[in-house]
Amino acid sequence: MDHDVIVIGGSFAGLSAAMQLARARRTVLLLDTNAPRNRFAATSHGFPGQDGRGPAEIGGALRAELAAYSTVAFASEAAVAARREGDGFVVSLAAGGKITARRLVLAYGVRDTLPDLPGLAERWGVSVLHCPYCHGYELDRQPVGVLARNDMAFHQAMLLPDWGPTTLFTQGSFEPTSEQRQALVARGAELETTPVVSLLGPSPKLEAVHLTDGRTIPLAALFVAPLTLPSSDLANQLGCAMRDGPTGPYLEVDAMQATTVPGVFAAGDLASPMPNATLAAAAGVLAGAAAHRSLVFDPDLALAA
Ligand SMILES: Cc1cc2nc3c(=O)[nH]c(=O)nc-3n(C[C@H](O)[C@H](O)[C@H](O)COP(=O)(O)OP(=O)(O)OC[C@H]3O[C@@H](n4cnc5c(N)ncnc54)[C@H](O)[C@@H]3O)c2cc1C
Repeated sequence: MDHDVIVIGGSFAGLSAAMQLARARRTVLLLDTNAPRNRFAATSHGFPGQDGRGPAEIGGALRAELAAYSTVAFASEAAVAARREGDGFVVSLAAGGKITARRLVLAYGVRDTLPDLPGLAERWGVSVLHCPYCHGYELDRQPVGVLARNDMAFHQAMLLPDWGPTTLFTQGSFEPTSEQRQALVARGAELETTPVVSLLGPSPKLEAVHLTDGRTIPLAALFVAPLTLPSSDLANQLGCAMRDGPTGPYLEVDAMQATTVPGVFAAGDLASPMPNATLAAAAGVLAGAAAHRSLVFDPDLALAA
């Protein structure tokens, strides 16, 4: 085998998994195409010790720490295929070539699909947002909107009044029940049923949204629930089971981040219904430790088979 473990995806989850394996002096190859999910935001918030630093800066610091360990190798390459072979795995690279390892950690994240509305995609991560915990504080209690796509809009509109005066645009996609209407009123959120047709202001800033009846509503940010898909179908190729989450499918894992396929571990947004950098890193720690334990306690993948 070329490596003890191949980690596919080198951001919060993958780097944290590789760190545990490196500290156990195991050989690790980290494959990464360097497109972390939060790359659209200038700053990242809530990650302990790194609050307010840029995603690339945080990633660079984590990679530099890992590079100090002699058993870690990095490759800026995309994995395009993976399969089990004997007591290990074969991974094919986009650039050609195959590599082998005794265990896999999948940490390649998810990709977002946004609503198709003029001016929306270019503001993603700056004034079009999905997570108030990540970027709500910096809005400084200015007016915010929620653009409904499904029931998630209710959840967002209930939370957001803690960050600023909130308008829920139902967009013909979400009809609140009478209980939900009462709850929104109690939170001080406004309901607007006339659809938003475009976003206004010098992009990537947002100043207002334009409605079909010609009105404009001033807003500093518009929150949407992204729809997510895994960034690759490698888990599918390996036969890992999936679950349905609030924004899309995610990988089924146990309490130690083991997927349903023996020898394959997964961590981060790819394997969680709750996307968050700190949670991705924590899950990566578990996945790295679990992959190491699997090498020790089940070297031939016999117990799990
Ligand atoms: C706009 C935005 C802002 C956000 N802001 C915050 C914030 O402030 N705080 C916070 O806690 N969370 C934030 N998040 C959520 C955060 O980005 C994710 O929770 C976190 O990035 C998940 O880490 P991860 O390691 O699972 O995946 P990712 O960070 O998405 O990394 C996956 C890595 O895998 C690589 N990859 C993908 N496919 C392959 C392949 N086939 N082969 C090799 N490599 C591959 C990618 O290039 C990428 O580098 C934000 C999300 C968005 C969309």
